[in-house]
Amino acid sequence: MTPELNAPELFRDRAYINGEWVSAAKAHTFPVFNPSTGQTIAQVPDLGGDETRAAIDAAEAAMPAWQALTAKERAARLRNWFNLIMQHQDDLARIMTSEQGKPFAEAKGEVAYGASFVEWFAEESKRIYGDVIPAHGADKRLVTIKQPIGVVAAITPWNFPIAMITRKVAPALAAGCTVVIKPGEDTPLSALALAELSAQAGIPAGVLNVVTTLQAPEVGRTLCEDSRVRKLSFTGSTPVGKLLMRQCADTVKKVSLELGGNAPFIVFDDADIDAAITGLMASKFRNAGQTCVCTNRILVQDSVHDEFVEKLNAAVAALTVGDGFGDGVTIGPLINDKAVAKVRGLVDDAVSAGARVAQEHTSTPDNPNFYPPTVVTGVTASMRIAQEEIFGPVATVFRFNEESEAIALANDTPFGLAAYFYSRDIGRVWRVAEALEYGMVGINEGLISNEVAPFGGIKESGIGREGSRYGIDDFVEIKYLCMGGI
Ligand code: ADP
Repeated sequence: MTPELNAPELFRDRAYINGEWVSAAKAHTFPVFNPSTGQTIAQVPDLGGDETRAAIDAAEAAMPAWQALTAKERAARLRNWFNLIMQHQDDLARIMTSEQGKPFAEAKGEVAYGASFVEWFAEESKRIYGDVIPAHGADKRLVTIKQPIGVVAAITPWNFPIAMITRKVAPALAAGCTVVIKPGEDTPLSALALAELSAQAGIPAGVLNVVTTLQAPEVGRTLCEDSRVRKLSFTGSTPVGKLLMRQCADTVKKVSLELGGNAPFIVFDDADIDAAITGLMASKFRNAGQTCVCTNRILVQDSVHDEFVEKLNAAVAALTVGDGFGDGVTIGPLINDKAVAKVRGLVDDAVSAGARVAQEHTSTPDNPNFYPPTVVTGVTASMRIAQEEIFGPVATVFRFNEESEAIALANDTPFGLAAYFYSRDIGRVWRVAEALEYGMVGINEGLISNEVAPFGGIKESGIGREGSRYGIDDFVEIKYLCMGGI
């Protein structure tokens, strides 16, 4: 069933290449499902290498004119796009909840969050400054200018169907680049709706292209191996990120990777426990636990452990699980049954290794894509659930005694995306913040993502930063001009 929209033109079920809505050559399509009901919402083109090359052709051809616009002119188009996204916030959220499952209020929040990157980078596009460098000789003048890197490939996941696109595409367009987007196969409709609005905003044909496909490996390889694509920006799983990085080696492409995490959430004995519960619920259960910055391991100091678990159990019991369009629903379905099976496997493994289910939500719909929000206690570092990204509504609680033990546990992972901790001791706040090997740290705060701050990870969680004043750096090359004989 297709969602009812105020602006039906936002519901697009064809790919978008060079300003045209296109079908697959052999009319191959694949279905997009509503994860809550299992119903098919749309059939979209299953494009392959040829169509991907056509999208790169279009992006390459569109680049000179787009790049030649003044920053102010590009900013105006981006600002139009931002305004249109916000004008259509409800429709975009309806499409998103239909294909992704997140509660409608959360989907509206994501539309605003996604739009904020377009607004921010519209503003930043006017501030791509170069430098004048004091010269090494009296007859010389040295300057740097920043130029768009070239055609950009953006491969994005299903968990934030709009924001993961705008966070890459807005800075790329602001810098004067053109893009080929390969959206997550579960959520292509949000990407296509964004493309429709980009056209309405005056973003010219070929500047933004969307290749829908179920053949991610083939489309991914085509994007990585084409020397005209100068930059790959990817958000998704660590194994795929590593594969793409290898595939980009032969053309020495710049890569930005935003990969998996294994976020610790440390509750020290001097924490405000109620504030920590509020922060944890936001960090753990947003999007049903399906975000790369979701808390994966809750480390609680011994003396506050039991109080914390009791309050956590009550908060989890109070969640409302159901269809994303249902009244008051705070947790929707997981994206598909594979995701549910993975979460179940991790919980079963932990229990068989000695952990205990302290709380399981009792009124979760009996539908294959739903998983009941759960609290598991007695978790230890050797369990799979402590080492892998859960990506589901399961809160796992560890116990620790000393600050140093918590830091060592927190850092004992190849990942380094987000970490959180609660403490009111200013000395501890600085010590722990500096010791955590993570790209982002929430201190007495469970929600850290916004357009003005740099989002990104260290270690195997990624390369590069998105959003903030740094977010444009990945889409420009610095050119140094040395003028002699002056
Ligand atoms: P997730 O677990 O979030 O689905 P993935 O890394 O599988 O993480 O997916 C993120 C994005 O990467 C999606 O758009 C997906 O289609 C794409 N993807 C998956 N495998 C490949 C691949 N081999 N090459 C290119 N893209 C891929």
